[in-house]
Amino acid sequence: MESREVVVVGGGPAGSTTAAFLAQSGHDVLLLDKARFPREKACSEYASPSLIDVLDRLGARPAYEEEGPVRLTATEIYSPQGRTIRIEFRDGGDRRPPLTMSRSRLDPILLDHARRSGVEVRENARVTSVLRDGGGVLGVTLDGGSGTRVAVRAQLVVGADGLHSVVSRDLCARARSLWPRRLGLVAHYADVEGFRSDICEMHVGPWGYCGIAPLPGGLMSVGMALDTRRYRGTAHTREGLFDEALGMFPAIAPRLRRGHRLRSVRGVGPMARRVRKVSGEGWALVGDAAGYTDPFTGEGIYRAVRGGELLADVATAALAHGSASRERLAPYAKARQAAFREKSLVVLIVQAVVSYPKLLEYGAARGLRHPSVRTTLAGVLGDYEDPRRVLRPRYVRDLLLP
Ligand SMILES: Cc1cc2nc3c(=O)[nH]c(=O)nc-3n(C[C@H](O)[C@H](O)[C@H](O)COP(=O)(O)OP(=O)(O)OC[C@H]3O[C@@H](n4cnc5c(N)ncnc54)[C@H](O)[C@@H]3O)c2cc1C
Repeated sequence: MESREVVVVGGGPAGSTTAAFLAQSGHDVLLLDKARFPREKACSEYASPSLIDVLDRLGARPAYEEEGPVRLTATEIYSPQGRTIRIEFRDGGDRRPPLTMSRSRLDPILLDHARRSGVEVRENARVTSVLRDGGGVLGVTLDGGSGTRVAVRAQLVVGADGLHSVVSRDLCARARSLWPRRLGLVAHYADVEGFRSDICEMHVGPWGYCGIAPLPGGLMSVGMALDTRRYRGTAHTREGLFDEALGMFPAIAPRLRRGHRLRSVRGVGPMARRVRKVSGEGWALVGDAAGYTDPFTGEGIYRAVRGGELLADVATAALAHGSASRERLAPYAKARQAAFREKSLVVLIVQAVVSYPKLLEYGAARGLRHPSVRTTLAGVLGDYEDPRRVLRPRYVRDLLLP
């Protein structure tokens, strides 16, 4: 039976980053992905400015910059009653812009970087289950074709296999996520008119929202997050559902009609996922496999790579002591808490505002009119300002009072 030090399941941003950091620390890493890259991924492709910091530390920034990501100058949020909240970004000083790049470019860049860092990458390699022995994880089982299964042993199995993680399912790590209940649909458009090539638009409607992000090469990524209570079962195809839901956004649909949609609509739902724990005896979860809320605040990609960096640090220390035991991996959960807890609270507050548009109208008519309030929010949502800044009573007062 094949035996490796670390097996990473999934070659998205979380898996590639974790694997690359581990290989750079001298570990023997095998990465398995069921897809062949470039592969499609339902994503609005808006990355938090702090993605760049992780790519810098990983050594992947030159390849990323060479691909020419779009640096956004602003995000405009439109309320159902037509109020606009404009959040401006600057490049330089203490302010930084969010970035966009198609996932069919970003993910192969990160996967290639993992390869160059010494990771053995196997595509078309679908993991079917986790190999267990009593309380611990011994490795994974792969689909070997023609109904056969192939086992690979590992000291550490990393589940970076996304929202529908087989690793978290097999380890019973998943917990119920009751809210928000949204499904996500994304499509690329070409030749559209009436959108700026450096501004992301977010339109909030009664049953969800639609975001439009400019991509390199003049394409537009159009993503919708829709309340499952309203949209489940209303159309038989993703395309049908996408077109039906676009009708909810009269400021967008006519402008898109002038261009054309490329490829098929990608979709997933419901998007929110929670897990009970992120590591145990011989295993750890990272990226969406470790939990996900919603794309509105655009931190999924950043959290995937930053989570990978945190996990690689803890795993390297654990493996140096000879085992990826539950105790040795426990600091990973603490590191995630320290890195993400307050931001997660901000994300939930933003979710409440988006879910109940009256709150958005209230904020837009009051505190969000003030540039300083919006600038602080931009930094927190961009993951480069301490999230506690927007949880302080003074900020909340500035936000709520006229
Ligand atoms: C509609 C939508 C819009 C979004 N928009 C944004 C956005 O604008 N900005 C943002 O930052 N985030 C956004 N996100 C979230 C973002 O896409 C994720 O947070 C990010 O992709 C997480 O990366 P990951 O590596 O954990 O998972 P993924 O990118 O999903 O990668 C998981 C990988 O695991 C592989 N895999 C799965 N199962 C197996 C298996 N059994 N065996 C082997 N391989 C397997 C898959 O092929 C895949 O390559 C959005 C999400 C959705 C659903």
